[in-house]
Amino acid sequence: MKRTVLVVEDEKAIADVVEMYLDQGNFRTRLATTGAEARKQLQDPSIGLVLLDLGLPDDDGLEVLREIRTRGALPVIVVTARDGETDRILGLELGADDYVTKPFSPRELVARVKAVLRREERTETTDGTPVVAGSVRLDPTSREVQVHGADVELTRKEFDLLAYLVARPGRVLSRTQLLEAVWGYPDDVDSRTVDVHIAQLRRKLGDSCPLKTVRGVGYKADGG
Ligand code: CA
Repeated sequence: MKRTVLVVEDEKAIADVVEMYLDQGNFRTRLATTGAEARKQLQDPSIGLVLLDLGLPDDDGLEVLREIRTRGALPVIVVTARDGETDRILGLELGADDYVTKPFSPRELVARVKAVLRREERTETTDGTPVVAGSVRLDPTSREVQVHGADVELTRKEFDLLAYLVARPGRVLSRTQLLEAVWGYPDDVDSRTVDVHIAQLRRKLGDSCPLKTVRGVGYKADGG
């Protein structure tokens, strides 16, 4: 079955190329050239992934992302001409699954779309047993996290990263391994993505955070 990708992009030349490559990659596409159009198209449940340009004529793409996230776990890849660290981190904090900076290779973009969707399928089929690490409890089925019994809100990727590490207590994992496992592709250039998510998890989980830095190597969860 073909998956439908909503391309939110106001530059026609870019949208044309992206749609062409997605079509060749065996995806269906829809196009929205404004934030308002994107919001309307997002009502359609057949949309399986969103490529979201942050610089829209009528709207800030981050606001569209925020709205998508209040409604559920639809995969989103943020596409932007802005390469500022702030936008990148904001996009990831708001729960984007990946981040691509213009100019990008359309082939690479399609590879990332596939990686995000593969990851999505893997997550859906993991065994749903709750995992406990110290005072932190994760429920993979409801995707709820509790610290000392109190709910903590995590983004999708924060949850996936934490779940992956605590399922392998004591095992040291490199940033590349974590990118591959949680984001679905190895990418040394974006290894700071992992650091940003670890920092967020430490902030949200406080002293209960079971994740440790292994200098020069990567991260591990306590135990094992
Ligand atoms: Ca734009």
